[in-house]
Amino acid sequence: MSNNKKPQYDNEQVEKLASHLKAIIELLGEDPSREGLLKTPERAAKALIDNTSGYNTDAGVLIKQALFSHDSDQMVIVKDIEFYSLCEHHILPFFGTISIGYIPDGEIVGLSKLARVVESQARRLQVQERLTADICDIVDKNIKNKGVIVVCEAAHMCMKMRGIEKQETTTVTIQFCGKFESVELQQQFFTLINLKKQ
Ligand SMILES: [Zn+2]
Repeated sequence: MSNNKKPQYDNEQVEKLASHLKAIIELLGEDPSREGLLKTPERAAKALIDNTSGYNTDAGVLIKQALFSHDSDQMVIVKDIEFYSLCEHHILPFFGTISIGYIPDGEIVGLSKLARVVESQARRLQVQERLTADICDIVDKNIKNKGVIVVCEAAHMCMKMRGIEKQETTTVTIQFCGKFESVELQQQFFTLINLKKQ
């Protein structure tokens, strides 16, 4: 999931990050002047900036760019939106999929915008619980709706690499509001997002 424009970097930010990353490489006992590592601080700095680019994105503005009036109040679902985020406790990746459902109340949003909303919240130092809750809140606040539900399924490298829990563990988080308080409606949502897996 990328927005096609090439990222623009703030040179001063890249340089500052790179100097810290070079120090980190040294502290790890490596030689930052060996060939393979020469450009690593700068590359790693740019990767960090890319992976936290959500701080520069206003998700509410993204949604408002693509709102359309709509009469039906049938559930709309965008499922299995891929995301990559950084766990704020270890600065290690966690990644997986997010499915969003909402019941329109007079308007709908362009579907690709929901993927952008996910990206805006994922690309920052994050925890899965807040990622899920914030996406639900953003959709609720910016699209007239009768209910919103968000489910996130993710694998955390801080668990997998450090072997704290079983390697195959995935973490599931859910947030909902409005009509999705109804268990029946939640079940309908889960049935629909699981269609592919049957
Ligand atoms: Zn972690």
